[in-house]
Amino acid sequence: MKRALNFNAGPAAIPLPALERARDELLDFNGSGMSIMEHSHRGKDYESVHREAIALLRRLLGVSDAYEVLFLTGGASQQFAQVPMNFLGPGRSADYVITGGWSEKAFEEAQRVGAARVACTTKRDGTFTRVPTQDEVSIDPSAAYVHVTSNNTLYGTQWHWDLDPKGRPLVSDMSSDFLWKPFDVSRYDFIYAGAQKNLGPSGVLIALVKKSFLAEARADIPVIFRYATHAKNDSLYNTPPTFAIYMVRNVLAWLEGIGGLPAIEARNREKASLLYGALDRNEGFYRCPVERASRSTMNVVWRLASEALEDRFVAEAKTHGMIGLKGHRSVGGLRASIYNAVDVATVKALADFVDEFAKKNG
Ligand SMILES: *Cc1c(COP(=O)(O)O)cnc(C)c1O
Repeated sequence: MKRALNFNAGPAAIPLPALERARDELLDFNGSGMSIMEHSHRGKDYESVHREAIALLRRLLGVSDAYEVLFLTGGASQQFAQVPMNFLGPGRSADYVITGGWSEKAFEEAQRVGAARVACTTKRDGTFTRVPTQDEVSIDPSAAYVHVTSNNTLYGTQWHWDLDPKGRPLVSDMSSDFLWKPFDVSRYDFIYAGAQKNLGPSGVLIALVKKSFLAEARADIPVIFRYATHAKNDSLYNTPPTFAIYMVRNVLAWLEGIGGLPAIEARNREKASLLYGALDRNEGFYRCPVERASRSTMNVVWRLASEALEDRFVAEAKTHGMIGLKGHRSVGGLRASIYNAVDVATVKALADFVDEFAKKNG
């Protein structure tokens, strides 16, 4: 079997050891004569997986008891609505920092629920090439919360500093860079991340919510949409996506096994420097639209002189087993998503191809 060199943006690559473990356990989980998918979500086999996934996450990130860890469904897109449903009460307003397509969607959804305002946008000429500086963000001193998007999956920008929300609760959509490195959870009141970028398969989302913030949430919305419901029931209020959570467990166990977040950060930095290094060496032939200080370590985007040349790059890369390099349909160009599961050798192969293609066509 030859595994693809997978640069998909999401669903994305999953670490091979996590997949192999799933293969080995698929037909007979823990001697039960059934796959984990066939177990009751109330039984002890599934419950042990569920608890282990939460415990692994708490250990890896150092999440304190001041936070609930939740498994939710509906993806980050549902959170765009559910966050304001819970935390944007009547007479309140929430602040949104707009750094890309996903934060625009989050802002639009919040406006359907209540009052939301733009605390800053880095959109220029219809595109995004950077994250803001602290000075550019004007925070409403009475904002219900401030919403940011830590990594801009489409345009390839990423925050490399933490916004000071000036005492307001800070909410972050970390879907495309959650767990790429260690970070201080205590700066945030609510964090959410869909699993299909950095954590496993699609179908489940992880949320961390500070208990003191949760205490402020509305209790007059439907039960299923209240975060408190899921917190109170250990994310077992309704049937959770058991297989997706099982896969997240496998991915987190792999992550711990390789040395946790400090180890993955070192790998991620090496990968980013290999790929940006190759693009920068051939500057002129390739063009990286993102300002250097805002470059994403997870989604690397670049352009070539023409769409025809970009198409040729994608087609030739494919003959080398590399897939997923076409930019998002709304942005165009090229994009390589180099999440945690994409190893250094895979990125090295792409960086070599970047050099080779420039030499041949430059
Ligand atoms: C992928 C992504 C989303 C959307 O996730 P869905 O699971 O499709 O809802 C939202 N925000 C960010 C930052 C993303 O990368």
